[in-house]
Amino acid sequence: MEQNVSPFIGNPGPGLERDLRQSVRARILRAAMPELPEVETTARLVRPRLLGRSVRAARVGWPRTLGGLGTAAFERAVRGAEVRAVGRRAKWVVIELARGGAPAGVLLVHLRMTGRLVVEDAASDAGPWLRVGLALDDGNELRFLDVRKFGRMLYMADPAAHFADLGPEPLGPEFTADWLFGALRERRRALKPLLLDQTFVAGLGNIYVDEALFAAGLHPLRRSDVVTRAQASELHAAIQRILAAAIEREGSSFDTFYRTPEGRPGEYQHLFEVYGRGGEACRRCGALIVRSVVGQRGTHVCPRCQPKPRPRRPS
Ligand SMILES: [Zn+2]
Repeated sequence: MEQNVSPFIGNPGPGLERDLRQSVRARILRAAMPELPEVETTARLVRPRLLGRSVRAARVGWPRTLGGLGTAAFERAVRGAEVRAVGRRAKWVVIELARGGAPAGVLLVHLRMTGRLVVEDAASDAGPWLRVGLALDDGNELRFLDVRKFGRMLYMADPAAHFADLGPEPLGPEFTADWLFGALRERRRALKPLLLDQTFVAGLGNIYVDEALFAAGLHPLRRSDVVTRAQASELHAAIQRILAAAIEREGSSFDTFYRTPEGRPGEYQHLFEVYGRGGEACRRCGALIVRSVVGQRGTHVCPRCQPKPRPRRPS
C-alpha cells in the first residue's frame, strides 16, 4: 500500500522522517507548478472562510516570502484589516483588504512550486513549513505553507502596476476566438512559448498548454502567424473547455505539491491526454506520446494528432 508521504497531510512520526525528506526532495525535482485551475480552486475554497474576517495578528516565519517588505511594515499593513474579497488574477490569489469599509490594499499570494494556502484552527500545529500566518478574529489562522520557499505573499497598497503587463484572462470576456486569432497573427513565435508568456495570456502553464495544443491538434513549435482562423478558434475553445474542466475537478496533482486548502489532491490529472504520458499510447489514435524539451520545459506531443510543422521554403 502506498504510504502517505505528502508533506502537508498528517504527521509521519519520527521513524518516517528521513523517508519523508527524501520523498520531498524527489517530488520537488519533478514538480509542476500550479496554474490557473489550481490557483482558482485555492481562491474559491479559502474565500468563504476569509470573507468578513479581520486580521488580529501576523507572524512571519520566512521574511523573504514577503518579497522585500519588512516584517514590521507587513504587520502594520494587515493588522486590524478586514477581508472584503478573495479572487484570482493570472496565477495570483488576490485578497482584498478594507478598513472601516474603505479599501486598504491587497495581499497577493503566488504558490510558485510548493506553496499552499490553508485556513486552520490557530491553536493547531502549523508544522515546519509555515512562512506567513495571519491570525483571524474567529480563532482560525490563514497559513501560507511552502516547502521550497519560492512562493510569495506580497502586500500592496495598489496592485494595478503589478498586473499592468499581464495578458487577458483566458476565461474572461476579452479572450475571444477573434482576439486570439488576431493576437497569434501579430506575434511570430512558436505556439508553446507564446502561450506560456503571461503577457500574452495570463494563467496558463506547462500542463494546460500541452493539453490545449493536443486538443486543438497543433504542434507546440507551429508558428503563431501561420495558424488559420479555424485552428485559432479550436485552440480558443480547447483552452476554455480544459480550464473549466480542470477547475471543476479542483486542478491537477499529477506530479505537483498541489493540494486544495482542504488537503485533497486535484482530480484533473486522471484526464490528461498527453501531459506526463510520454511513451504511452495516444487515446485518440494509438501512436506513442513523445516527450521532448521545448524552451527548457518538458513538452508532450502526439506525433500523429499534432503533426510537426514543415520547414518553410524561403519566399
Ligand atoms: Zn494521437
